[in-house]
Amino acid sequence: MKILNPATHAVVAEVAEDGATSIRAKYARARAAQPAWAALPLGKRLDTIRGFRARTIAMRDTLAKTLTLEMGKPIRQSRNELDGLLGRIDFFLAEASSVLRDEKVFADAKTKLEERISHEPLGVVANISAWNYPYFVGANVFVPALIAGNAVLYKPSEYATLTGLHIAAMLHEAGVPADVFVPVVGGGKAGAALLRQPVDGVFFTGSFATGAKVGAAAGRRMAKVQLELGGKDPVYVCEDVDIETAASGLADGAFYNTGQSCCSVERIYVHEKIHDAFVAAFVASVRGFKRGDPLDESTYIGAVTRRPQLDVLRKQVVDARKKGARILAGGDIVNAKGNWFEPTVLVDVDHRMSVMKDESFGPIIGIQKVADDVEAVALMNDTAYGLTAGVYTRDAKRAKKILSQVRSGSVYWNCCDRVSPRLPWSGVGHSGIGVTLSTYGIQTFTRPKAWHLRAT
Ligand code: NAD
Repeated sequence: MKILNPATHAVVAEVAEDGATSIRAKYARARAAQPAWAALPLGKRLDTIRGFRARTIAMRDTLAKTLTLEMGKPIRQSRNELDGLLGRIDFFLAEASSVLRDEKVFADAKTKLEERISHEPLGVVANISAWNYPYFVGANVFVPALIAGNAVLYKPSEYATLTGLHIAAMLHEAGVPADVFVPVVGGGKAGAALLRQPVDGVFFTGSFATGAKVGAAAGRRMAKVQLELGGKDPVYVCEDVDIETAASGLADGAFYNTGQSCCSVERIYVHEKIHDAFVAAFVASVRGFKRGDPLDESTYIGAVTRRPQLDVLRKQVVDARKKGARILAGGDIVNAKGNWFEPTVLVDVDHRMSVMKDESFGPIIGIQKVADDVEAVALMNDTAYGLTAGVYTRDAKRAKKILSQVRSGSVYWNCCDRVSPRLPWSGVGHSGIGVTLSTYGIQTFTRPKAWHLRAT
């Protein structure tokens, strides 16, 4: 399999792809190795994750460069991802022992009856991952899964394969046995072959379209399934905000990682009283973003990772224009080698347009004028997705009222495009099922076993 640099289309590396036979063998090895891994004292498993953490620090520059070369993320943002990874690992290290500890939930001296819960690993889990934040979305799964005593068959996205292989090498060097964390290399075909193995859990991050197939395959096998899918994340800007601050914060939330985050701001609703002033400030921020070589320290907008996405973005612009939208910045594919799209701002948009309904996953945003909070909430909820939603206002009560009416896994007040290891990460509707991060995101890799004990 050829790994191409999306910024130049140069070949970065060639790697051997897994086929059905090698995937079957990898599964068998993971199945055989898992019980011994689960039998280790928790402290030993935690030590391996500490070792992994130390290696990501030691190799930071190499890892960041690899990520930038294979997926086009600006180099500073690659380093930011690696730095952010540390806090997530620290959270899991700090919380694991209390989440995984056996619990006594009932004891009666008279009848000598005791009830306890133990938290057993699921067994062998498949982790099929996305490319946009491979360290974040990968570690949300494989770190707690390994800590809880599971073996992990990890299929990085075909657009983040080298990063996936770095992750595997660092875990192995830190003491995780090669058969307990097993990388599976390839694209959709390898993912589908992995799902034909009798794994105990499937943890998927990716698009709704693929997630629906993955969920169906896992369901047929009665494997636990967790799906972290896309979003069409809205933000509503009220008339009482500081316009400059809100506009620059939201421009960053929409265009960071070249708009390729599941929680990127994908549509903005602005109160009519400040609409024009907000749009002017927003466009000024976007014009300040430097697009270019992802390895350059000053680059903010990188390459679009997947070439087919360029057509999706172009179609959204054409559709919006045809239905009355105006383009205030960008608007098309850049005529250059590599996958490039101009940072694009559309106004006079509405919900007949694909750009306000379908996930864009690129450097493009629609800004719509609204009359009041009621209209804003109705539009925010007019989506099949429900990953994140935000509101910008000075008024805490108003924010709480609005956010409590929005169907969404995460809600933000005066912030956006943010993930915390302490909070559950989940989606409603087409944004998925299940939870990662927070203590729920450790528990999810275990099966609670009920113990009814009567001493005689
Ligand atoms: P994708 O659905 O194209 O691919 C995801 C993974 O599935 C890849 O590893 C791919 O090789 C694999 N795959 C493809 N077909 C398969 C099949 N038939 N069976 C099994 N595996 C298969 O998504 P992507 O382009 O990698 O990621 C972008 C999407 O991921 C966006 O929609 C984004 O919003 C979403 N995402 C969500 C979160 C979240 O936390 N909710 C985080 C990151 C990305």
